[in-house]
Amino acid sequence: MELFGSSGIRGVVGEHLTPSVVLEVAQAAGTVLATDRVAVARDTRLTGRMLTDAAASGLASVGVDVDRLGQIPTPGLQAYAESEGVPGVMVTASHNPPEYNGIKLVGSDGVELPRERLEAVEEALLGEDGAPTVAWDETGATATIDSARERYVEELLAATDSETVAAADLTVALDPGHGAGALTSPEFFRELGCRVKTVHAQPDGHFPGRNPEPVAETLGDLQRFVRATGADLGVAHDGDADRAIFVDERGELVPGSAAFAALAADELDAGDTLVSAVNVSQRLVDIVDDAGATLSMTPIGSTHIVTRIRRMEREGKRVPIAGEGNGGILFPGFRIARDGAYTAARFCEVLAARDAPASRVVAPFDDYENVRRNVSYDSDREREAMLEALKRAATDADAELDTTDGYRLDYGDGWVLARPSGTEPVVRVYAEARTRERANELADILSDPLATTTAE
Ligand code: MG
Repeated sequence: MELFGSSGIRGVVGEHLTPSVVLEVAQAAGTVLATDRVAVARDTRLTGRMLTDAAASGLASVGVDVDRLGQIPTPGLQAYAESEGVPGVMVTASHNPPEYNGIKLVGSDGVELPRERLEAVEEALLGEDGAPTVAWDETGATATIDSARERYVEELLAATDSETVAAADLTVALDPGHGAGALTSPEFFRELGCRVKTVHAQPDGHFPGRNPEPVAETLGDLQRFVRATGADLGVAHDGDADRAIFVDERGELVPGSAAFAALAADELDAGDTLVSAVNVSQRLVDIVDDAGATLSMTPIGSTHIVTRIRRMEREGKRVPIAGEGNGGILFPGFRIARDGAYTAARFCEVLAARDAPASRVVAPFDDYENVRRNVSYDSDREREAMLEALKRAATDADAELDTTDGYRLDYGDGWVLARPSGTEPVVRVYAEARTRERANELADILSDPLATTTAE
């Protein structure tokens, strides 16, 4: 059984995710990680306190001391884990709706646990007897750590070129979406020398202003706020602030992959490797080609990206930047972790260094059209027939084929990807090209064979 998906354990609280699940996962992690201390933290969800209590309880019961950091962004917990050399348990459901919560496990290097360590935790969890608990006088002690947020902000400041950013005199409109970024990002950007305006910046597990996912449907308020305040840049986070999505000075939403491309263009040198998921935008493919770098594609999901970066670095490759078009970007030189505040600060550095407005910085990367289609199926038999048809169409196509996760065909001027969804009975087809017409044409290549299968 695979308990940990590509982004940890997630579920609706009370249905799939209960305090007893969290307690057992914490007991298993406390045992497998062979450590005497673990940091526990949460985002701003209503159920966060209840579930971190369960995690702390589980850890103490197997003899592990617990540092409780309270509410903090996931990258803040990762910073603490690395600086203290202790593993971490993060209670968060990232961008999912308010009723969800989840767990992410972090190693003592501040990086998400690799797959094989997660498998060891799963094994301990599913074993006959569960994790061994200790005697009453060996149970773990709990410490409340009040300084973790402050330390995280200090680390971010130390890693950013604040002189350059401050000199640019930027006004930043921040929308943490009532998530954990509300507790650290306003202070960070203020100390960085920006004028900071905030919207949806009270930590609130009801997420009254917007849902935690920073996408076009949820960022209308930020766009209007940028226009109303005359800000140079709008920055939106997801619930645990490991992602950053931008709004330019005109109040226009910047596509996540355009911002990623602008940052990558600034980072990549010849011989470097850029790690991204298999739905990577053509914008990044172009940047990688222009720089003489290499693109390494992984299955979709942050765990896969982290695992690949580690492998590349072990092989002696330089990976200065990695991530996905959803605002989840990693600068492995800083840490192999997505960090919304750090990503936004790097974007501010680019604006400051070029002395150009955000719209102009992303303009070269803003001219692609994306098409997304879902083709549904009703039975396993139909699913099999669709995958068979897909395989045939993909192998017959006159394009470069990649089968990392589904089928991706690269045509030089654009691409199409088809893959079965992990959670819904649909095959998703994505395509991207410079014109909508061409993107639709590319999408047809892999969605037409699916439609024919369904009709039979
Ligand atoms: Mg997140």
